Amino acid sequence: MEIPFLDLREQHQSIESEVFDAIHRVYEKTAFAGGPFVEEFEENFARFCGTKHAIGVGSGTDALWLVLLALGVKPGDEVITVPNTFIATVEAISLCGATPVFIDAEPVTYTMDPEKIELAITSRTKAIIPVHLYGQMADMDPIMAVAKRHNIPVLEDAAQAHGSDYQGKRAGSFGIAACYSFYPGKNLGACGEAGAIVTNDDNLADVVKKLRDHGQQKKYYHSIVGTNGRMDGIQGAVLNVKLKYIEEWNNQRIAHAALYHELLSGCEKVVLPKTAEGRTHIFHLFVVLNENRDSFIEELANKDVKCGIHYPISVHLQDAYKHLSYKKGDFPVAEMNADRCVSLPMFPELRREQVETVVKSII
Ligand SMILES: *Cc1c(COP(=O)(O)O)cnc(C)c1O
Repeated sequence: MEIPFLDLREQHQSIESEVFDAIHRVYEKTAFAGGPFVEEFEENFARFCGTKHAIGVGSGTDALWLVLLALGVKPGDEVITVPNTFIATVEAISLCGATPVFIDAEPVTYTMDPEKIELAITSRTKAIIPVHLYGQMADMDPIMAVAKRHNIPVLEDAAQAHGSDYQGKRAGSFGIAACYSFYPGKNLGACGEAGAIVTNDDNLADVVKKLRDHGQQKKYYHSIVGTNGRMDGIQGAVLNVKLKYIEEWNNQRIAHAALYHELLSGCEKVVLPKTAEGRTHIFHLFVVLNENRDSFIEELANKDVKCGIHYPISVHLQDAYKHLSYKKGDFPVAEMNADRCVSLPMFPELRREQVETVVKSII
């Protein structure tokens, strides 16, 4: 029996009638774009994150882009982020016409290295985007300390960190805002595309709400240039159902991670992921390192164990960012991670025997 890297079926079968009922209510109300189901989700999700506001949008990419727009990021500006992320983090900067400025990750958690920030700051730096990678938050205290010293807003990319925390607080409580994705494969996934912005800043919340709705002050009165970035009613309703289970699902992931750690301790084939002091890890991905990554993955696939790679090419070396003229060797930690990372099967419904089979195959 093949062990998939990710299986969404079992989870959706287990809540199928509840989800179908929710979709049916949207259908009866014809509340398809924004509307009461999205508002209900926004309230619940803000409470889950411990923030004042949550604003539902069309995707995680939109969430990042709209916050940067709201912060006034424009052509000529620079935004600091890491190159070892999903490309959307960087695209959001480019969509504003601004220039991404990369700094390396630190070698324990592979999140932004706070010590690299100061050297990258110029008079054009308009924002800093740390990424809460694989389910673990970046080192927010020192990141916020540098940002405050230079008076630069921090936007947290929390697309992989639903329910993860740092010193007991969740993403969005540190920076001016945090952005979430509800892409189906994320820890909290919609039945389609969706995202959200969470913030404690009333003014930012107001501007982002306008931006996602064509800059409307009220219907057909447009005070700023915006876009169509609303969340679908159906996705809001689905997410309202799924939010009730997220803690349980995260705990299942955490238990699988503990079992991987237990069974793989002392195994020299892989370097196991580490959780830093004061942080929780909700294991969106369980990423190990192996020096011969490609053959390692192929051998596991031959044993019917399917793995993922997050991500094989650091963003600074992607063709799409050739014009920035970065080269191999610029960010050794990010590049080492890209060369060696392997995402082992990880999803809440994974069974103990499956984890054991993965480990046996590795050994
Ligand atoms: C998934 C993801 C995004 C983009 O979210 P979408 O909803 O797919 O647009 C952004 N940043 C990171 C780190 C992600 O993992």
